[in-house]
This record gives sequence, structure tokens and C-alpha cells, in this order.
Amino acid sequence: MNTSYDILIVGAGHAGANAAIALRQQKFEGTIGLMGNEKYPPYERPPLSKEYLAGDKPFERIMLRPESFWSERKIDLLTGCRVSKVDPMDKKVTLSTDDEVRFGKLIWATGGSPRMLDCPGSQARNIHGVRSRADVDKIMAALPTTEKVVVVGGGYIGLEAAAVLTKLGKKVTILETMDRVLSRVAGKTLSRFYEEEHRQQGVSVELEAMVDAFETNEDGMAIAAKLTDGRKFAAEMFIIGIGIIPETGPLVAAGAAAGNGVDVDQHCRTSLEDIYAIGDCAAHSNRFADGAHIRLESVQNANDQAKVVALDIMGEDCEYDSVPWFWSNQFDLKLQTVGLSTGHDHYIVRGDPANRTFSIVYLKDGKVIALDCVNATKDYVQGRKLVEAGLTLDIEQLANTSIPIKEVERA
Ligand code: FAD
Repeated sequence: MNTSYDILIVGAGHAGANAAIALRQQKFEGTIGLMGNEKYPPYERPPLSKEYLAGDKPFERIMLRPESFWSERKIDLLTGCRVSKVDPMDKKVTLSTDDEVRFGKLIWATGGSPRMLDCPGSQARNIHGVRSRADVDKIMAALPTTEKVVVVGGGYIGLEAAAVLTKLGKKVTILETMDRVLSRVAGKTLSRFYEEEHRQQGVSVELEAMVDAFETNEDGMAIAAKLTDGRKFAAEMFIIGIGIIPETGPLVAAGAAAGNGVDVDQHCRTSLEDIYAIGDCAAHSNRFADGAHIRLESVQNANDQAKVVALDIMGEDCEYDSVPWFWSNQFDLKLQTVGLSTGHDHYIVRGDPANRTFSIVYLKDGKVIALDCVNATKDYVQGRKLVEAGLTLDIEQLANTSIPIKEVERA
């Protein structure tokens, strides 16, 4: 490890790794340190709740680049290093080992840690988050002795984990606090569709189910999740999928403006000079959310912000203004979503959910703001343009699946 880098990137996940790649693509010739606290080279996180958990893809196939890539590009990959302090005046970071590393510019790309429950029994060893390879390796190691799994949280990660574990023959129960799954990210129609799908595949979906304790045995293992209404769900494994807490501590302590994540401008600059923040930990004003200051937790956002930072460092004029997109795989359903549906005042269902191929088009003030497309890639690809342009279209035509979206757009 050098004691100084022109660019120091803290966090070697999607955003950090892609920032290093983008800098070299932009012909940045200075020194780059890519520092992360995990012991593995940068890898894709989405397969953790999909093909990796299912055992269908080994770790080598989810690495973002082959291990030799980093040294070939003269990027110093520094694994197993946790930054505990940032000094923006002296331009240096301190690691948990007390080592210090100086920087010319710092890119903070630390993502988030899984939000866990804080209630009696919640420290038990068989209660898992799903954020890192280490988390999922622990889950996989315990599977041979697990019959029943309780998944707390009906968001994308909880649903994906439930789908994989069901396919692996486990008896899975999802406990969701709200009155529908995916309530934070999708409209009711999509929620009901996924609830039904999971139930048909054998998953038990319990709504308005709030966990307030875990019962534990004398070995300190959780044996049941207890709800506020007194119901109990026994299992050998508990998975918590209730969101993340952005990893911003050292930067906030250094004085960076922050709320729900580190605040950044359209160039991903923080309020501290020569310090950027990107990916899941960065809150930015997003045109597709009516300018609201939001954090996006997606590969799209991590990759696109990484490119913006690299261009900004190279002195190019570039602002972050990408249309948000996301995907989720559950059973044989491929969901692709574009735009942000929050705040929609109307929606149209294109196609019949019973056929397992349909799209939901969300509108606000007559304009298309988002689409959720289930096994409907064509709609997703063509709908993207509608969201980007914020077009007002004929609603009846939009609902008619015999008319491709691009024809509706032309009309
Ligand atoms: P991360 O990829 O989390 O990387 C941050 C890195 O920084 C981590 O390695 C962390 O350990 C490290 N770090 C944190 N603090 C420090 C510190 N102080 N010092 C040093 N290192 C530190 N998105 C999609 O678009 N589609 C999907 O289908 C999808 N599925 C997902 C499934 C799962 C199970 C998970 C967990 C996420 C999924 N996501 C998906 C979200 C996507 O993976 C994230 O949005 C993306 O990883 C964000 O990239 P990031 O670089 O900001 O954070």
C-alpha cells in the first residue's frame, strides 16, 4: 500500500470499482488506490440473492473483473482495509489499523450495511443480513441443517431470497410489516401479483406482521420470530431484508453535509472540497423524483455516478441525470423497472398478470413516469424512452397490448 494516492477510492463495490475503471478509460494517469474492507476483489452484489445463493454461479463468475485486471490497469486494490476517519483539511484517511493514507481527491463509495432488527434475541447467530458475500456464505453453510426459514421484509431482496430458498426445498415464511410487499418501490398491482406468485410456489406470505422479539434457546440460537400480535413463527434460519443504513459515519464526522446519505450535487461532489460520494451512500437531487433528494440503491446508479465522477475529475462537463432502472429475478419472473413510480396518480396495466407477462405503466399529471415490466422486455426497452422524455400519451392505446409502445409514442 502506498502512503499517498492521487485518487483514493474508499469502498470497492460497484460504484468504487467502476469509478477506478472509468478513470483509466478516461486516460487518467495518476495513482489510484481502490480500498475496501471486504477481503475479496470487487464483485457483483445482485447475484447474492439470486444465482450465487442458488449455487448456480460460483464466486469467480460474479467478480466484476478478473483479479489480474486491477494490477494490469495500475489500480492498487487494497482489500481488508476499513477507513475509520477522514481528515479533509490534511487530505488523509485513517484506517482501523491506525495506518494513514493521503489523497489528492477522495471518492467515498461505501454503500450501506443491512438494517437489522434491534429487539430481544436479535443478536442470535442464525439471524442473517444479505449484503455481502460473507453474509451469503454463512446462509449457504447453514442450509443443509435448515428446513424452515423466516424472511423478515417483503422488499426485493427478501422476495428474491425467499424464491431461491423455496426452490432449494426450504419451507419459507415472509413476514412483512406493511399491508403489501414491495410497498416502498411499486404499486399495489405488482405487490398483489408477487404475493400471489410466492403463495402459489409454496411461500407463506404474512402481511401486517411486525416482529418484536426472537425466542432463543440455551445455545443462543433463535428458534422463533414473535410478532406484536402474539403470533410465533418457528424456523432454524432467519433472514432480515429491511433495507440498508448508508455507511457515511467517517465522512459525516469530517463535516460533510448529510441526511439520508451524504449529500452530493449533480457532479457527485460532497460539501467537502475534493471529496466525492457515489452509489448507495450518496443522496442527490433526482429529476425523475421531481428533484427530490434521494438515494438510489441500484447498479445503474452506482455505475452512472462512477462515470460522472471520473469525467468531473478529468475536467469534463458532465452532470448526473440518468433515468433510474432496476431488475429483480424471482422464480421464472424477470421484472425490469424503469423510472420511479413514487407519487404516481394513475396507472395502466398492459396485458394480463394471469399470463405472467405484463407491464404496469405509472403516470403523473398524464405523463409516463415509470414502468414495471414482468417478462416483458420489449415494453421495458420501448417504455424507457417514454420515461426519459416524460411524454403524455393516449391512455387507451397504452393499455392495448396489440399496439407496441413505440407505435403509441409515434402516434
Ligand atoms: P456496495 O456495492 O455495497 O460497495 C460498498 C463497499 O464499501 C462494500 O464492499 C463495503 O464493505 C465497503 N465499505 C463500507 N464502509 C467502508 C469503510 N469505512 N472502509 C472501507 N470500505 C468500506 N441492484 C440492482 O440494480 N439490481 C438488482 O437486482 C440488485 N440486487 C441486489 C441484491 C442484493 C442481495 C444486494 C445486497 C443488492 C442488490 N442490488 C441490486 C443493489 C446493488 O447491489 C447496489 O445498489 C450496489 O451494490 C451499490 O454499489 P455501491 O458501490 O454503492 O455499494
